Amino acid sequence: MGNLGVYIQVPFCQTKCTYCNFHTGVVSPGRFAPYAAAVCREIANYRPLLESSRVIASPSIGSPTQTLDTVYIGGGTPSLLEPELLAAMLQSLRSNFGCFFKEVTLEADPETIDAEKAAHWAAAGFNRISFGTQSFIDEELKAAGRMHRREDIYRAVPILRAAGIQNISFDLIAGLPKQTDASWRQSLGEAIALDPEHISIYMMEIDEGSRLGLEVLQSGSRYSAKDLPSEESMAEFYELAQAELKSAGYVQYEISNWARPGFESGHNLKYWRRDPYLGFGAGAHSFSGTQRWANRHDAAAYVAAISEGKSAIESVDAVTSTLALEEEFFLGLRQLSGIDLARIEREYGVSLADKVAELASRGMVEKHGNILRLPASKLSVSNEIIVELLRSVPVVAGAAR
Ligand code: SF4
Repeated sequence: MGNLGVYIQVPFCQTKCTYCNFHTGVVSPGRFAPYAAAVCREIANYRPLLESSRVIASPSIGSPTQTLDTVYIGGGTPSLLEPELLAAMLQSLRSNFGCFFKEVTLEADPETIDAEKAAHWAAAGFNRISFGTQSFIDEELKAAGRMHRREDIYRAVPILRAAGIQNISFDLIAGLPKQTDASWRQSLGEAIALDPEHISIYMMEIDEGSRLGLEVLQSGSRYSAKDLPSEESMAEFYELAQAELKSAGYVQYEISNWARPGFESGHNLKYWRRDPYLGFGAGAHSFSGTQRWANRHDAAAYVAAISEGKSAIESVDAVTSTLALEEEFFLGLRQLSGIDLARIEREYGVSLADKVAELASRGMVEKHGNILRLPASKLSVSNEIIVELLRSVPVVAGAAR
């Protein structure tokens, strides 16, 4: 079992972006401190709270023999919280786990950053900022309902550097309303010129969970649905990003992630490698290796439960061996480094040799020794390839239907 990761969810934002399908809300700042206190209490009582929800956390989780080495505070917009509240969450982890923090990430939106906050973050132990850049084009940021503008990004990056943050990640979204080939090229170019250590490229998701998605389904016009790029354009944006980032020296290590060598996200790698992690806060998810569980999403209900000493867990699911095998492929093959097929065949008692050989002959997968991987040119159709691969395993194909 690998080292432990902790994710802390802060589900508060200043406004709701038009494309957002996350469980986040706009609340008064007066609710931040009670929320942070609840998170600290959940951390301090995590083991009895898990037991009261019939979670069978492996004894090694959180034991003195296991090291907590990555923390990710995400949201929402956790950088809205007073730095003292974020520092208290880290301190609570230090008091309750065996910690050797290697990577401590805070998600921050550009307009929320100032020198005083950045200095506090660094002093508290944050060493990586995941920066909600999204685009460098004001027209696109405005159409998407973002609070920041291009100049906020240029103001915030030097502030973070001056505070001593040596690991900055930018998020960019391919497929924003009003995005064109030229504007995407510009956003990519400006992001690269600012020289972050890490860049994530997310493809715009359209579903009924966002105002923009609903508008697409209902053919409205308020949120610029008619200005969304086509799927073909989005595929071209992704390919352009792959080419531009590669020529700028970034290494793609996952479907959506590129890094300077040595700056891959250690925390996110845990998700794709199926290492254990604990989630704290409203809507946070956890994984022990044999179970996945999740807290309730509603922040007020979460705070009420924790304040009364009750668990906020609303679902606990066993990870059957069929599900575990699916996860090995769906999560593992997101990584460009691939997966150890021999280990998987041995652990799950399956044989994929014939199907792998057939897919390899069509250029859909690559096999080098025991390692199976997807070629970079096929990442955009990864799901189709993995479904085809798993169909050759009778037990998985049967259970998935
Ligand atoms: S900042 Fe992020 S979490 Fe908040 S509304 Fe926008 S997309 Fe959603």
